[in-house]
Amino acid sequence: MTFTRIAGLTAQVAAALLVATAVAALQARQAAPASPRRLEITHSARALVPGEAVLLTVKAAGPLTAVRGTAFGQPFSAYPGATADTWHALVGIDLSVTPGRATIDADARLADGSPLTASLPLKVGAKTFATRRLRVAPEFVTPPPAEQARIDRERLLLNRILSAISPRHLWGDGFIRPADGEVISVFGVRSVFNNEARAPHRGVDFRGATGTPVRAPARGVVVLAEPLYFSGSTVILDHGLGVFSMLAHLSRIDVKPGTLAVGGDVVGAIGATGRVTGPHLHWTLRIGAAAVDPLSVLAIAGAGK
Ligand SMILES: [Zn+2]
Repeated sequence: MTFTRIAGLTAQVAAALLVATAVAALQARQAAPASPRRLEITHSARALVPGEAVLLTVKAAGPLTAVRGTAFGQPFSAYPGATADTWHALVGIDLSVTPGRATIDADARLADGSPLTASLPLKVGAKTFATRRLRVAPEFVTPPPAEQARIDRERLLLNRILSAISPRHLWGDGFIRPADGEVISVFGVRSVFNNEARAPHRGVDFRGATGTPVRAPARGVVVLAEPLYFSGSTVILDHGLGVFSMLAHLSRIDVKPGTLAVGGDVVGAIGATGRVTGPHLHWTLRIGAAAVDPLSVLAIAGAGK
């Protein structure tokens, strides 16, 4: 009697196992890509509005050897992730991007050289930035004519540095805050000095006393370390693939052009050089031609992510 019952149960378990195996096999077939030639794009962002960084993931059924594309009106170069079938790209939505429909396009190449393409439709929302009205000394708003030649020279220098795209992805360890102080001026705020509207704030300002150490926000090559008219003593780090950090108004510069800084290395100290009203650290983050809120990068590509 006991034996029969056990035998009956065993038969039931066997039947259940057979059904489970069949279901699992069916699910595995359904989960597999429809075709090994399929390419898939997904995104991760704090928000899809102007001034935000967006992390793209491009995935295929097999190893990829190259991935590039366009996003928000700009070309991007991707870098391989943990496995060769999954690549990533950091892209930016510039303040000049008009809210509405946007399409991310990616072109990839499989190991055998065959091409794959994919598109991801997205919607960019609108964002309203605050305006601050300030009354300051007139020469703060309009630089003296004697400085114009220097200002023009430095604008050309910055354009040249920020448009040179180096091929190595250096920020694999992620981004950190370059200073611990609280944020005293957010990204995108529009300043009106003495009733004259200025360009929006394309960076974030951290509070800090003169002499407070400033750290590299991520691994990068120092491509500029010198005093400039507007940004004072400035360090620019090239993180690779068109991603740059600019650290401004420093009281001291501790690095030389050409050296590689690891995220967390001290590159200088907080100061009040250039056109400022008091000591603070200004951090600009550029992704290609887009300036984005550095805090949006910390949200998606912070250290450990
Ligand atoms: Zn600033």
